[in-house]
Amino acid sequence: MKNDSVFVYSPDLLGYKFSDSHPFNQLRVQLAYELLRDSGCLDDDQIIKPRQATDEEIMLIHDSGYVEAVKQAGRGQLNREIALNYGLGTEDTPIFPNMHEASSWIVGATLTAVDYVMEGKSKHALSLSGGLHHGFRGKASGFCIYNDSSIAIEYMKRKYNARVLYVDTDAHHGDGVQWAFYDDPDVCTLSIHETGRYLFPGTGSIHEKGAGKGYGFSFNVPVDAFTEDESFLECYEKSLWEVADFFKPDVIITQNGVDAHYYDPLTHLSVTMKTYTEIPRIAKKVAEKYCGGRWIATGGGGYDIWRVVPRAWSYLWCVMNDQAPSGQIAENWLKRWTSEAKHPLPPTWEDESGIYKPIPRKDEITSKNRATLEKSLYSIKKSS
Ligand SMILES: [Zn+2]
Repeated sequence: MKNDSVFVYSPDLLGYKFSDSHPFNQLRVQLAYELLRDSGCLDDDQIIKPRQATDEEIMLIHDSGYVEAVKQAGRGQLNREIALNYGLGTEDTPIFPNMHEASSWIVGATLTAVDYVMEGKSKHALSLSGGLHHGFRGKASGFCIYNDSSIAIEYMKRKYNARVLYVDTDAHHGDGVQWAFYDDPDVCTLSIHETGRYLFPGTGSIHEKGAGKGYGFSFNVPVDAFTEDESFLECYEKSLWEVADFFKPDVIITQNGVDAHYYDPLTHLSVTMKTYTEIPRIAKKVAEKYCGGRWIATGGGGYDIWRVVPRAWSYLWCVMNDQAPSGQIAENWLKRWTSEAKHPLPPTWEDESGIYKPIPRKDEITSKNRATLEKSLYSIKKSS
């Protein structure tokens, strides 16, 4: 094995862009890539080029009519009313030129990561442009045209006969992936997210446990708004170990959205960089114990592209490689981006203490989350 970890990257992945004002901005992938390069944490021989996914691969999850609609929309040939039926042309998923091609690069990048790990060419692989998790079989949703997470899972099942554990720590519920495998006992989904009470997509309750043969293979830990590092990590760490021990996966795929951070403009959680240093550390340990190390990580949500995403995703890569950057952020990187950044760039890898005021309901939120966690894992306790 040449490398323990590979990083899937090329500028082709940056073409997934709805508009200049849309919150989903793949510049964040470039920002993370450059931060890693400037920090000396990413070598040439660790970078692998993605490919575009084929239509057949995309149709492992998506309906052919939908794929055709995405192609037509990207060529400006889709009637507005028909487009809206497919969730295309909405505020969340506007139509943009060549959207099919841009989306198939994202899917292909995640499949490239999957093949590297499943063929034993590397233990871990990172596809930061991927991790889209809201799209449905026949409908775009939540900034997601093609659900690369679901496609990757189905691809691993078919090509490698793998039992797959999907772990989603995005602030939003991983609904598209959950519903795609809801009745499938060979895929286990675990999502830790802000409760859907006030947040898109509104699903992800503890009662969504799977259906038919897949009953008991869907886990949700919806945490309260304003949840902080300690409680978020407690929910994540306990649920991941218990679910992995219950399911005994062949491979783990993690969706590493970083929109639970306090700075994120779209959500209401209060975690900091501390959470984003711990999440991959634990995922790596779990993959080592249950899957011979096999771990594919993707990006996901993350809408403070200046203060949060570059550091958090760079850290994810560093943990894959047993590195732990700390202290000052690379001077070159800060110089290059300071004038363009919408917020003053944090000068250090860690968040400064006191970026938010103490949360008065902290104890109440912690015990409520603990009770939610217990209930989420109840079916495992009952069966063991
Ligand atoms: Zn999200």
